[in-house]
Amino acid sequence: MNDRIKNEMLFNEFNIKEEAFKIINEAEEELKDKFKEIDDISEYNQYKVIRALQKNRVSEMHLNGTTGYGYNDTGRDTIEKVYADIFKTEDALVRLNMLCGTHALKVALFGNLKCGDEVLFPAGKPYDTLDSTIGINGAKGSLVDYGITYKIVPLNEDESFNYDEIKKAINEKTKLVEIQRSRGYDTRATFSVEQIGELIKFIKEVKSDIVVMVDNCYGELTDYIEPTEVGADFCVGSLIKNLGGGVAPCGGYIVGKKEYVENASYALNTPGLGKEIGASLGYNRSFLEGLFNAPGVVNAALKGAILTARVFEKLGYKVSPSSDAKRNDIVQQIYLNNADNVIKFCQAIQHSSPVDSHVSAEPWDMPGYDDPVIMAAGTFVQGSSIELSADAPIREPYVVYMQGGLNYEHVKLAILNAVNEMI
Ligand SMILES: *Cc1c(COP(=O)(O)O)cnc(C)c1O
Repeated sequence: MNDRIKNEMLFNEFNIKEEAFKIINEAEEELKDKFKEIDDISEYNQYKVIRALQKNRVSEMHLNGTTGYGYNDTGRDTIEKVYADIFKTEDALVRLNMLCGTHALKVALFGNLKCGDEVLFPAGKPYDTLDSTIGINGAKGSLVDYGITYKIVPLNEDESFNYDEIKKAINEKTKLVEIQRSRGYDTRATFSVEQIGELIKFIKEVKSDIVVMVDNCYGELTDYIEPTEVGADFCVGSLIKNLGGGVAPCGGYIVGKKEYVENASYALNTPGLGKEIGASLGYNRSFLEGLFNAPGVVNAALKGAILTARVFEKLGYKVSPSSDAKRNDIVQQIYLNNADNVIKFCQAIQHSSPVDSHVSAEPWDMPGYDDPVIMAAGTFVQGSSIELSADAPIREPYVVYMQGGLNYEHVKLAILNAVNEMI
């Protein structure tokens, strides 16, 4: 009976064809064990978050915030203690005025590097938006512009770390190492926390006073542990990704050893004042509620990604990660073979959205890209990639990047719609 009501909704309201319906249901059935693995991780992380909220005695008064300078914002300060507990670190900076992930990374880098220092990227070129922050493209105001040099060591063919080259790249100027956990828009696999731990151990053996920073974007709460538990000195991320839980309207975080977090706070705010200022403007509640929801939201995003992988595997497409792989972030790649499929897929995602479902995504010549790019997102928070979104450059190998989903049902519906259009 209940099944009938539900299915008739799909057939009558969403015009889902029997064939699409069958493929998705089969995939779901096949993924039962995999979903249990994800549920176990999320359950643990939910307990971890609740315990951190309780230990820090989060109270009704913390839900409000300050204006002006933001002195004595106990809500904001409590949120930072909660984050520090979750990541098992000495300190945290969790702020509205970190404008996006790239900004949080920029603040962390500028706060912890000085003219004459060198930063090493031991696992290939970092995320595209960092090109300007680092100065790879000669951007004004970049690290290079401020006299900080950089080195990049590419991965081996088999995506393992090139330990020989990393060792050679480390010199007396090497102050900081940045490791990016997620694949971002690269085709490499995302690193597990364990792999990151091995790399950190190696680097510290070569030079013990190197500071290790991890770009944790997209990876939070996908595992039982975080990179700060395997030797990272600090981790950086965005609140319109995993930890904002779809509720935080903007913001970023830096968690780690007190010294490095403090340095970052001077770069973000101002020397002397650092963490003491920064009005939370009433957003403490969103940060706390988002964090409380985050394990469940990450669970939905992960299961949605795995379902997508399984469905497209069944349809004969290459996907990465595969449906049975261990997940280390929420990003799913689908190789769709031609432009037509890419456009159909992205349009189906758009038409399945809670916001702007009536508009059609189209490829366009986006500044900074050589090929037309198509982006599908109907999100409550602009550009939020913890909400379901998909994007792709229109070029070989016609790969779509899909991520997010505030609830599993939404991702399932979007994939039903996509398959419906593509078969
Ligand atoms: C999203 C992301 C960033 C940058 O975040 P923005 O909020 O888009 O500026 C950096 N690194 C990785 C790996 C990311 O996934």
